[in-house]
Amino acid sequence: MKAFSYLFLIIFGFTSVASAEDKIRVLIIDGQNNHDTWPKTTMMMKSFLEETDRFTVDIERTQFTWKGGELLEEFPLDDGKQYEDLPKPKTDPDFKPNFANYDVVLSNFGYNAAAWPDETKAALEAFVGGGGGMVVVHAADNSFGDWEEFNQMIGLGGWGGRNEKSGPYVYLNEDEEIVRDESKGNGGDHGPRHEYQVVIREPDHPIVAGLPRAWMHTKDELYQKLRGPANNMTILATAYADPKYKGTGRHEPIVMTIDYKGGRVFHTVMGHDDQAMACVGYATLLVRGTEWAADGKVTLNEVPDDFPTSTESKSRPFEMSVSQ
Ligand SMILES: [Zn+2]
Repeated sequence: MKAFSYLFLIIFGFTSVASAEDKIRVLIIDGQNNHDTWPKTTMMMKSFLEETDRFTVDIERTQFTWKGGELLEEFPLDDGKQYEDLPKPKTDPDFKPNFANYDVVLSNFGYNAAAWPDETKAALEAFVGGGGGMVVVHAADNSFGDWEEFNQMIGLGGWGGRNEKSGPYVYLNEDEEIVRDESKGNGGDHGPRHEYQVVIREPDHPIVAGLPRAWMHTKDELYQKLRGPANNMTILATAYADPKYKGTGRHEPIVMTIDYKGGRVFHTVMGHDDQAMACVGYATLLVRGTEWAADGKVTLNEVPDDFPTSTESKSRPFEMSVSQ
């Protein structure tokens, strides 16, 4: 074959990468979260993902919502379905997303979300266990404390009745060694929101490769005292929980991957609200982590020019850039 034919193939091959069938199919699930910015943060994450041209994103929401408030009207789904915002979380017996239609499921549920139907729980277990991807952000790790397989998927969680029966506390000690601490106590805690430095612990991992080894995260909650089975879990980044902010004085895991049977889970504890998610570092990790969850590879490996430095956080104002 002549050289120009190879060139044609290269160009043709390159342009075909962006076709819809090659994109990673993501399903964001939400509806019940004590963090009342959730209708907006769901749209922010959809936007971050679609802006890369690497993903298509759908959203499925429980028909009974909790703490959606006025943001449900500002950031509507417009999917023709009826929703009812209730004063307390309530199980939606019809919440049965077809996970199998997607490559990755991203949970923006939160603390105190009502239990899913058994059929839906089994479907998620089959999806991730069968090789699917899952992304867990911030309070999504508060949900479903008594669901054993969910806890295996997320590795560590907080609140939701979690205690020593859920698994050890996991953190890094002064010598930066991973500790699995079996002592008794509740799982999940945080002090007041503040900016904190994210420290990369696995710089060769594709989700964090090429990023600064330490960078300042926008004002956010720093989760600590998380506990769970933490099986097959890799800690990609930690943050020092400073006693000045009611911290443990430990290096707490804040970005993790978990191998759950045949599937991959990306878990970040960052993302309390829209301000925290506006962090360029948050968005960068979210798109890379979601891509990794799909198939274990990351092609979105450019580091944005406005990525935070070791001393200065960087945020981007959020503007809706995708269809609702
Ligand atoms: Zn929070």
